[in-house]
Amino acid sequence: MKAAVIHEHGDLDVLRVEDISEPRPGPGEVVLKVQCAGLNHLDIWVRKGRPGAKLQMPHVLGSDAVGVVAAVGEGVENPKAGEQVLIDPGLNCGRCEFCRRGEQSECVSFGIMGQSRPGTFAEQVVVPAANCHPKPPHLSDEEAGVLALVYVTAWRMLMTRAQLQPGETVLIHGIGGGAALAALQFAKLVGAEVFVTSSSNDKLSRARKLGADHTLNYDKESVVKWIEYETSGRGVDVVVDAVGAATWSLDLACVRKGGRVVLCGVTTGAKAESDLRALYWNQLSVLGSTMGSAQDFRQMLRAVTVNKLVPVVDKVFRLGRVQDAMARLETGRQFGKIALRVAS
Ligand SMILES: [Zn+2]
Repeated sequence: MKAAVIHEHGDLDVLRVEDISEPRPGPGEVVLKVQCAGLNHLDIWVRKGRPGAKLQMPHVLGSDAVGVVAAVGEGVENPKAGEQVLIDPGLNCGRCEFCRRGEQSECVSFGIMGQSRPGTFAEQVVVPAANCHPKPPHLSDEEAGVLALVYVTAWRMLMTRAQLQPGETVLIHGIGGGAALAALQFAKLVGAEVFVTSSSNDKLSRARKLGADHTLNYDKESVVKWIEYETSGRGVDVVVDAVGAATWSLDLACVRKGGRVVLCGVTTGAKAESDLRALYWNQLSVLGSTMGSAQDFRQMLRAVTVNKLVPVVDKVFRLGRVQDAMARLETGRQFGKIALRVAS
C-alpha cells in the first residue's frame, strides 16, 4: 500500500510516498481504508523530531482521518466491517488512574496517532476500535477527515478547561489555523463575544463571516491597545492561545483580572518570558490543554453534529502531493484545514 513515510527526521524532503506492507489488526483494533486525512502542525514536529522522542523508522505521519473499516481484530464488536468512521487520534493505556478517572489525555502513556504509532497518511491504518466514531452525516469526507484533532483540542480548551460562559469575552490569536477557527465556532455556539487577530485582512473578513464580533490586523495596530479600548480597560475573560512565544506577553496584558489564559500550542516557539507579578496581582488562571478526554471527544462530536458545524477546508491535495500539502501548512497562509485525499 502507499503511505507518506519518513526514514529520518529533517526538512520537507525526508517525507516520501512509498509502498509499505499492509497492516493487520491486533486484538481490539481495526484496519481502516483511509478516504481522507487531515494535516496538523503536529506532523511538522514529528517530521522534524524532538529530543528524547524515538520513532520506529520508517514512520507514517498523520493523526486525523476518515475511512471505511476493512477488517476487525479479535474481540471487536464495534465498529463493523464496511462502516465509515472518523478517528479520535488520542491514544491511552485505559488502565492507569487517570484513564480510569476518565481523563484519557492525562494518561501516563498518552500518545497520538502518527506520533506514537503509525499514522493516517496511508491507504490503510490500524487504530484501536474504541477510537472509531461514526462520521457526522452532514460532513463531506474532506470535512470529516480534518476535524478530530483541532476540534477536540478547541472543545477541551474552551469548555472543559476555561469553562466559557455565555456573554463572556474571548480573544483568539491567529485566526486561520484549524484550532483557532474551531475555537471561534465553539465560542459563538456558547454565546460568547469573540475578538480575533491576524496579519491578513482577507482572513479577518472571512472570520467575520464565521461570526467573529471584533477583528484586528496585528501588523497595523497594537492588540493590547485594541482590547483595552474595546473592553473599556477591563480586558477579556478568556484568551485562547495556540501561537506561543509571539503572543504570550499579549495574553497576560489582554486578560482581565481573575481571567483565564488557555494554551494548547506553540507554533511560533516554546520559550517566552513572563512577568510573574501579572499572574498573582491580576489573579490569573493559566490553563494548559492537550487534545481531550473520551468524554470531551463525544461531547465535541455531538455538538458538531447537532449544530451542523462545518470545519473550513483550505485546500485538498492527493496523497502523492503530500510534500506540497505540508509546504502550504508551513507557510501559514492557509485559512482552515489542509486535507489529503487518499482514496476516491
Ligand atoms: Zn492511562
